[in-house]
Amino acid sequence: MLMSSHRFVLAVGLVVSLLALRPSAQTPTRQDAWLDPYRDNSAHLLGEALSSRHAWERLAEVGDTFGHRLSGSRALEDAIDWAVTEMKKDGLENVRKELVKVPHWVRGQESLEIVSPRRHALVMLGMGNSVGTPAEGIEAELLIVRSFDELTAAGARARGRIVLFNVPFTTYGETVQFRSAGPSRAATAGAVAALVRSVGPAGLRTPHTGALRYADGVAQIPAAAITTEDADRLQRMVDRGNTIRLRLRMEAAFLPDADSYNVIGEIRGREKPEEVIVVSGHFDSWDVGTGSTDDGGGCIVTWEALRLMRKLNIRPRRTVRVVLWTNEENGLRGGNAYRDRYRDHLANHVLMMESDSGVFRPTGFGFTGSDAARATVRDIATLLRGIQAERIGPNGGGADIGPSVEAARIPSMSLEVEGNYFLLHHTPADTIDKIDPMDMARASGAIAVMAYVIADMPDRLR
Ligand SMILES: [Zn+2]
Repeated sequence: MLMSSHRFVLAVGLVVSLLALRPSAQTPTRQDAWLDPYRDNSAHLLGEALSSRHAWERLAEVGDTFGHRLSGSRALEDAIDWAVTEMKKDGLENVRKELVKVPHWVRGQESLEIVSPRRHALVMLGMGNSVGTPAEGIEAELLIVRSFDELTAAGARARGRIVLFNVPFTTYGETVQFRSAGPSRAATAGAVAALVRSVGPAGLRTPHTGALRYADGVAQIPAAAITTEDADRLQRMVDRGNTIRLRLRMEAAFLPDADSYNVIGEIRGREKPEEVIVVSGHFDSWDVGTGSTDDGGGCIVTWEALRLMRKLNIRPRRTVRVVLWTNEENGLRGGNAYRDRYRDHLANHVLMMESDSGVFRPTGFGFTGSDAARATVRDIATLLRGIQAERIGPNGGGADIGPSVEAARIPSMSLEVEGNYFLLHHTPADTIDKIDPMDMARASGAIAVMAYVIADMPDRLR
């Protein structure tokens, strides 16, 4: 649902007036008095963010112009070149592309149908990194299991079958194993192909793709996701005693690795330019939808934090660097390449932040770091009370910042939001219309304030 411009302006007015409230002057020993020098600029950053739809418009432009952006695709590289041009126009410094060799998986044509007892097409999406089928497809009888234990119990009955893991979505962490590890488990049991009930809540017959991981030394069988509706239908038919034959056709294949790039832009620090605060999202996406929620939005709101500082002529003590990662979805090569390239500079990374949970209404940040750093971050977050984004959760991190954060024990942070991320992610429905311009404005402002204060504090966050 989009906010009317009238409500937008009202909301801006409310926030700016909340920010104008200052703690009373007669309590100089307040614990958060150290924040006083940052209150004006923070209010300006939030005010600037909330006074326009710039972030949303920019994300809409990415999706409309380039569409989805899978590693190895022309669309991703064109979008990367566009981002470089736009960052320069924004006035960011040291804008550059850094080469990363990425896997190049292509989906090709694909289909799944019930062959008997009656022909019927099913909605499906092949899983990323899957092998394809022979041109005529694979036809076999269906075996449904609801857990790995049921697969083990099925024993020889799995041989020569197409195995469906029909496991209802609970949390991503619990359910995703059937997508990532299920195909190799099914192959070990003798299956010829694997299907997975989409890893997400019930949607409108929308399949979710995502990467699988073949185990070493196990036959690689093709694998695809089906919708929750079709999984339920197949289950009902089997429960009624039907014997079901399916035919799966997939042209999926790997091409040679391709050249891609992490995109970097900076605001150089005025006193300690060698000390860096990284804010980031991943620019690659699955090859369905437009990757607006996963993770074009994360790229734009973190980039936006630098644009806002530049626009308001705010140059913090330390460098603020935005990174648009390549190849998060099916390789993590961008995050690994950054760690390797900057290995000797990681000790100068004060904080790394990633936004990859969608850009719905921001509630605050997850943070991982020392207790002292957490207390500081909590103080800073009080500057975000006006937009109700002051919560600091127990864990911060992200897939792409992970390799660097682990290598050098860098404090890490993630944007936290309230929204139905797993309904959309990795689906054809991941498009800009699910995102509220006001939420993107709030997220951009929150990230800008957090990054600015950490970059400008006299003492380094430790
Ligand atoms: Zn993502």
